[in-house]
Amino acid sequence: MTDITKSNFDAIIAGGGLIGLAIGYGLSRRGLSVMLLDAEDTALRAARGNFGLVWVQGKGAYFPAYADWTMRSSELWPKLAGELRETGGPALGLHQEGGLSICLSEAEMQHRFEKLDDLRAHQNGRFQFEMLDRAALKEIMPGIGPKVVGAAYCPHDGHVNPLYLMRALQTGLTRNGGVCLANAAVRTIDKTGNSICVGTEKGDFECQRIVLAAGLANAELAPMVGLQQSIKPQKGQIVVTEKLDQQIALPSLLLRQTDEGGLMIGDSHEDAGFETSVRPDIVSGIADRALATLPALADVGVVRSWAALRVMSKDGYPIYDQSETMPGAFAISCHSGVTLSAAHAFDLAGYIAEGSLGPELEGFSQRRFNV
Ligand SMILES: Cc1cc2nc3c(=O)[nH]c(=O)nc-3n(C[C@H](O)[C@H](O)[C@H](O)COP(=O)(O)OP(=O)(O)OC[C@H]3O[C@@H](n4cnc5c(N)ncnc54)[C@H](O)[C@@H]3O)c2cc1C
Repeated sequence: MTDITKSNFDAIIAGGGLIGLAIGYGLSRRGLSVMLLDAEDTALRAARGNFGLVWVQGKGAYFPAYADWTMRSSELWPKLAGELRETGGPALGLHQEGGLSICLSEAEMQHRFEKLDDLRAHQNGRFQFEMLDRAALKEIMPGIGPKVVGAAYCPHDGHVNPLYLMRALQTGLTRNGGVCLANAAVRTIDKTGNSICVGTEKGDFECQRIVLAAGLANAELAPMVGLQQSIKPQKGQIVVTEKLDQQIALPSLLLRQTDEGGLMIGDSHEDAGFETSVRPDIVSGIADRALATLPALADVGVVRSWAALRVMSKDGYPIYDQSETMPGAFAISCHSGVTLSAAHAFDLAGYIAEGSLGPELEGFSQRRFNV
């Protein structure tokens, strides 16, 4: 067990969401001493409100390096799940048998095909997908409604219980000797001699590396290390039904069935600032599409619904940066923190341990916005 009074950690992580936990776990499995500092329960937390998809199809269609990074993470996911299982954390409920993008018109089918075909060409066949017509889709999803034209099937997609994922990463981190401190929001970051001094209400801590992974709060923390993170909130709402027998075998951006039986319905996108109320008009919009996909849902009860804020950069892609003025300081902001957990735990943590982001992450710097 790492000593909390230890004066100098190899790494301090600011933020206990999916990004901070994955990187913290990744650093600790390499033998680094890690302290993870999280803010109060009132902080914004995208990781507690997400849909749980490990999603590849369509990602990076206009940003090839992101397509590669997402694919890499999907390939590393079984290794991450296996390692976390060995640490004795909860089972993650990972299913990676593929995912569907359901299309409700021929135009949607065509658009989906063109986008995925571009991706396949870029990745020289590493990315795979198949367009399923209505008859083929009906074989794996018998309850589809009359408006459903077909779907894109991608074998790299999957889903997981995101809360179990967080708990498993935290279990792994602490089993590797890491320390997690709650109610310890980072307030100051200063260079002191050969170390970085991190100030919180629970005391000051020193480290060799600091990773800013505080979600939307990264916008305020990044300037403390000479960086900038152009991020803003994007609201998403999710509806959960009562527990049902199996309705769907594969997840989609709109619907996924949890191991416990509840159907999650999601995929709304709102520019609503920092406002997080559940809006009935948005819920009814996503419910309409779910009903068109699976008409049997008309008789199913809704048990809860919530809204959460995505961490979105200006172009929607991750920002991975390291400071030039404070060597050892990194800032990471991104959406798709579930999908990218494996790349973060293995590759990104490896780069941070070595002190420098790898060349494949160069295009993800905030500098791309400075043109
Ligand atoms: C509705 C919705 C659906 C989503 N669906 C998916 C999906 O299906 N698949 C997928 O891959 N991704 C999905 N995501 C995205 C995913 O949840 C995010 O990418 C991920 O949670 C971002 O994690 P984070 O750690 O950066 O931020 P957060 O989860 O917001 O965590 C930030 C943490 O930083 C802490 N903090 C804040 N200020 C400070 C400070 N000063 N010092 C220390 N700590 C601080 C907070 O307490 C918090 O714990 C979804 C997101 C939403 C909102």
